[in-house]
Parts: sequence; structure tokens; C-alpha cells
Amino acid sequence: MAKAEGRGSYRFFTPETNERLHEQFQLEQDLRLALERDEILLHFQPRVDLRDGRILSLEALVRWQHPQQGLIPPGRFIPLAETTGLILQLGPIVLDLACRQLLDWQAQGVPVVPIAVNLSANELFLDGLAQRLGNTAEGFGIAPEMLEFEITESAAMRSIERAVAAVTELRQRGFSIALDDFGTGYASLSYLNRLPVNSLKIDRSFLAEIDERPELPYQATAILKAIIGLGDNLGLARIAEGVETEAQRRFLLAHHCTVAQGYYYCRPLPAEQLEPLLRAGRVEPGG
Ligand code: C2E
Ligand code: MG
Ligand code: MG
Ligand code: MG
Repeated sequence: MAKAEGRGSYRFFTPETNERLHEQFQLEQDLRLALERDEILLHFQPRVDLRDGRILSLEALVRWQHPQQGLIPPGRFIPLAETTGLILQLGPIVLDLACRQLLDWQAQGVPVVPIAVNLSANELFLDGLAQRLGNTAEGFGIAPEMLEFEITESAAMRSIERAVAAVTELRQRGFSIALDDFGTGYASLSYLNRLPVNSLKIDRSFLAEIDERPELPYQATAILKAIIGLGDNLGLARIAEGVETEAQRRFLLAHHCTVAQGYYYCRPLPAEQLEPLLRAGRVEPGG
């Protein structure tokens, strides 16, 4: 490393950087094609009532079926889609897929629950967003109560004024809004009063502190408890992300957070695999 950065070397243009740039460029070209070639698909993760495992809603999580590389997770292409502006094409595709899935399930007699769709910051601040989302739902004949949109706390903090305006418009159209990854942004809490969201999604990093140890250090749980309490006091629903263990489930129930999603209940699944669970209406923890 020290040697590679020594005198006479191209510190910012090593063969590795070159390769990475090339890869990113290639991925961008591939993504452009993917958007026209039906390579984008959704997996769905249930949000469950921790008391009885009942499925309350689903989160739609995008995947890319790459012809050579296989299934690519959003962490590898959403940031790219955001920096290249391709997110403005990808976002509508995701919403269309979610709406179509609701209609498919309805047609098959599968009991449906609302679907939550993630919005990126670039989409949140787009003029006419509420209009577009409203038109899409209406075009599919889907009631706005069947759709929720997740915006991240860090996106909202980019411009609280515009986030308030966008969320207000979406609420007026009957959509629910969740504040995603809550607790990870550099948020001053005063903005929360003004942002008319329905729920807080407690970031998974807070829950990760809780494991099977019987005695937890106070600090490990203090912030988690404070966030749950804050949501409670503001009259917001709380959804815990990333429940992986029975100890975490018990902790949440003991602290008045009754809704969660996580591998302990169910990984994000393709629609066909979710169907039996939707028919049953519930999932078994640990299964
Ligand atoms: P997110 O919205 O916070 O979604 C939750 C992520 O946590 C998902 O990762 C999910 O698979 C994962 N997860 C759920 N339960 C557990 C658990 O128990 N343990 C662990 N370790 N992870 C768990 P995924 O599907 O890879 O998505 C990552 C992120 O990509 C999402 O985070 C979201 O920010 C973004 N994303 C996904 N789909 C979309 C989309 O359609 N549009 C936009 N703009 N962003 C999306
Ligand atoms: Mg989300
Ligand atoms: Mg999240
Ligand atoms: Mg997250």
C-alpha cells in the first residue's frame, strides 16, 4: 500500500481504481438496458404483529436480475441509480410492479395487505410527485390506503421545508408515509413535529445491540427505548427493522413496540413464495 502510494505512482489512478471505474461504467450501461428489459423485480418482506405473527403489511424491496451476474441487491445499484438520475425511471417501475402484484394477488383470491414502497431523496423532491403517484394508483384501480411510501430520515433532512410539503401532499391523497432508517440521520428532533408521517421505522442498528445476554448495559438499550417512546408520545406507529432473535422480539414487546420486520420472521421473498404466507395471514417466528 505504502509502496503503491510512493513517489512516481499514480495515486488516484491505480489499475484497481481503473478497474473499479470500468465496472461502475459497465454497470451503469447495464442498468440502462435493464430498465427496458424486465430485469427489475421485487421481493417482499412481511411486517408482522409481534404478539401473534399476523402479517400487517409488506415492504417491497427491489432486485435486479442481471443476465450475467445473477440477482443483484439494491445496495449495489440504488446509489448508482441515484447519482446517474436513472432512479427517476427506476422508481416508477418499482411502483408499477408493486401495484401489479396487488392486482395479481387480488385476482388469485390471495388476501392482500398494504405494500410499502421506498422512495429515494431524488424522487421525494420531484415536482408533481404526489400527482404522479396518485395517478399511478388510480390507473391501476388501487386504493391509496393499500400503498405506503418510505422516505429516509436523511432524505427528509436535506430540506425539511420541501419534505414537509411533499409528505403533506402525499397524505392528502390518502397515502401513508413511514420515516425509514430512523435514528441514523443527523436529525434535530424538532423537525419531527412538523413532518406529518404515520410511522417511524427504527433502524436495524439499534436493535442489533440487543442479543441473548441476560444483562444488557444500560447504554445499549437507552436509545432504542427513547426512540420507541418518542414515536409513542408523538402518536406515531413504530416499526422495528431487523428483528433476528427471540430476545429482540421480547425486548420490543416489553417496550411497547408491537410491529417489526426481520429475518426472525421472514426474509424478503419473491411473490410466489409469499403467497402461502398471505393466505395463512401469519408467519411463525424462527421459521
Ligand atoms: P431499507 O428500506 O431500510 O430496507 C431494509 C433492508 O434490511 C432490506 O435490505 C432488508 O432485506 C434488510 N433486512 C430486513 N430484515 C433484516 C434482518 O433481520 N437482518 C438484516 N441484516 N437485514 C434485514 P435490501 O433489500 O438489501 O435493501 C437495502 C436498501 O435498499 C433498503 O433499505 C432501501 O434503502 C433500498 N431500497 C430497496 N428497494 C428500494 C426501492 O425500490 N427504491 C429505493 N429508492 N430504494 C430501495
Ligand atoms: Mg425501507
Ligand atoms: Mg429501513
Ligand atoms: Mg435500513
